[in-house]
Amino acid sequence: MTATRVLVLNSGSSSVKYQLLDMRDSTRLAVGLVERIGEQGSRLKHTPLTDGGGTRERSVAIADHAAALKAVAEELARDGLGLDSPELAAIGHRVVHGGQSFTEPTVIDDAVLAEIERLIPVAPLHNPANLMGIRTARALRPDLPQVAVFDTAFHTTMPESAARYAIDVATADAYRVRRYGFHGTSHAYVSRATAALLGKAPEEVNVIVLHLGNGASASAVRAGRCVDTSMGLTPLEGLVMGTRSGDIDPAVIFHLMRVGGMSTDEIDTLLNKKSGLIGLCGDNDMREISRRIDEGDERAELAFGIYIHRLKKYIGAYCAVLGRVDAIAFTAGVGENAARVRQAALAGLEPLGPAVDADLNAVRSDEARLISPAGARVAVAVVPTDEELEIATQTYALVDR
Ligand code: ADP
Repeated sequence: MTATRVLVLNSGSSSVKYQLLDMRDSTRLAVGLVERIGEQGSRLKHTPLTDGGGTRERSVAIADHAAALKAVAEELARDGLGLDSPELAAIGHRVVHGGQSFTEPTVIDDAVLAEIERLIPVAPLHNPANLMGIRTARALRPDLPQVAVFDTAFHTTMPESAARYAIDVATADAYRVRRYGFHGTSHAYVSRATAALLGKAPEEVNVIVLHLGNGASASAVRAGRCVDTSMGLTPLEGLVMGTRSGDIDPAVIFHLMRVGGMSTDEIDTLLNKKSGLIGLCGDNDMREISRRIDEGDERAELAFGIYIHRLKKYIGAYCAVLGRVDAIAFTAGVGENAARVRQAALAGLEPLGPAVDADLNAVRSDEARLISPAGARVAVAVVPTDEELEIATQTYALVDR
């Protein structure tokens, strides 16, 4: 029997998200989530997609990632999709930070694990959780190929001029301070899907990808390779996000320390969790902000205005970085659903080439689609991202079958 299934694991500090895919036709066999690992009220939500069976939710005491994966394995086994099945070809792990070491998806061995561990200082929140997921999965199926797919990998093609901060080189190198970028799996998938939508090969087109979810980032992709992205050493840089400030003058931090008496941790929390849309207007959900704007709420309008202004600046900057732009693609929760954001972000940019057709922009769909009028110099696309499929595809490509 040929093994055609891939399990995709996205392990966070207190959650594990998973999807089981059949790579013969890229279909999902099951999806699910374990939440509140190691906390009160941990729970598992599992949806088999094979026979239309409904979602099963249960509250179970799940002390750690090993217990979480064991519970997932039990649920999958109930649907005849057990992890001991010979049809399982590999497990693909989302790993947030691959630094400069990992430019491609990589089959995991002890040396790879050690290198992901060495990168913990640049990703203290994410890499330890990713490592726990990998170690647990290896213990469960030591014979199975396991592949790490890095959020940073797609951005390792950035030239030094885009990847370096203009700070003292020795200091930067000593502490590995540089712009790594994140959401790379999404930017890779969406830039390729956008080329396909235009009927072109990725090498033939230049694309600006706007990944606008709760976290948000933009990238400039020339001929299939990333040449700039808006997130940096951490996901804090760049666009205004749901709860992150994006770009600020770094001296704001010194000011808050010296004049505000705030600690490093307090400022970290302020900028990552209490800023962006939620800091500006108390809501980080674009649906709610949109509803408030319709009711004439000035704070919501100001937050939206700041969000759009920053987005426009990045679109303009990436037009300049790329020179020739073939398409601008919107993706993730906000990008795929918020017609208002797409319209506002491109309003007035017609002299640069992009244009939005109001009727096409208003259409709701799960399909990749163009929303620019025929003949627009720069096509505008809405492309639903699929990071799990991309991780599964990259994983499966590395497995001997
Ligand atoms: P992440 O993966 O970063 O958590 P998502 O890509 O799932 O985020 O995006 C979540 C965000 O998408 C929500 O916070 C909300 O602002 C936005 N969103 C989802 N659906 C809609 C919609 N129908 N209209 C406007 N915004 C939406």
